[in-house]
Amino acid sequence: MNKYIGRFAPSPTGPLHIGSIFAALISYLDAKANQGTWLLRIEDIDTYRCSEDMATHIQKTLEEFGLYWDEKVVYQSERIALYQHYLDDLYKRDFAYPCFFSRKEWNRIKNLSGRDINIKNKPNRIPSYRLKVPDINISFTDGIVGLYQQNLKQEVGDFILKSADGCFAYQLAVVVDDELQGVTDIVRGQDLLDSTPRQIYLKQCLNFRPQYYKHFPLLTNQQGQKWSKQTKAPEIQLDKKIQILYELLNLFGFSEPIPSTNNIQELLAWAVKNWNEIKLSKKNIITE
Ligand code: GLU
Repeated sequence: MNKYIGRFAPSPTGPLHIGSIFAALISYLDAKANQGTWLLRIEDIDTYRCSEDMATHIQKTLEEFGLYWDEKVVYQSERIALYQHYLDDLYKRDFAYPCFFSRKEWNRIKNLSGRDINIKNKPNRIPSYRLKVPDINISFTDGIVGLYQQNLKQEVGDFILKSADGCFAYQLAVVVDDELQGVTDIVRGQDLLDSTPRQIYLKQCLNFRPQYYKHFPLLTNQQGQKWSKQTKAPEIQLDKKIQILYELLNLFGFSEPIPSTNNIQELLAWAVKNWNEIKLSKKNIITE
């Protein structure tokens, strides 16, 4: 069996909040409980929305919580040539095509799909690149959610790999990075569940290896909205990190009582030891 390699892949668009610490904690515990390596990848591909300061802030916060990653941090902004290489490969093998329509125009005509309808259109525009999507169902068994299925053509359509402004899409970058970093287990929030069939299909086109998935529930506010910058997630107060860690560990329903300590490393080591006993429900969790 391959050694477990997991990762936490935050986008540095804002500081870590309770929901992202929860995400980091789960992927860390899952990796460590399976004698795995835990990588940190900064997903700063969207240079308009991401900042270097935030990337540094995220790393400091993870360290404060004792969530130390193995190996050197990978920054997507430094890997543009790699993404271009794989896009070229898809294009040469006729899996991807230039699309001269804007997103809005595309949404109107998307049922036509394919390279042929595009070629003659708007030759003065810089194209985006899309992946040609066949009419197939992609299904996989998620370690938390169970069987998940999506018809790519009907539910998504040909999707963008690189937009006209030159920015590579999350879908391409994440698939290339997970392959090149040898990631075996993808543990992330259920907000990304419906991206997974796209990523599975893209991996197949690139002859990449498959991964195991666990899409955990999200922490939400009282209205059931995922905590994020948009829903005004409160900033983490580092002087309360022990309480926060207890609050999060309590959500997992460990069968053993959580030991009382002020030592973060001790607490994490205990959680790693007991992690494989818990069963995460797929339902989102409302927090204060
Ligand atoms: N960068 C993504 C986010 O912050 C996570 C990507 C992933 O885990 O695949 O939501």
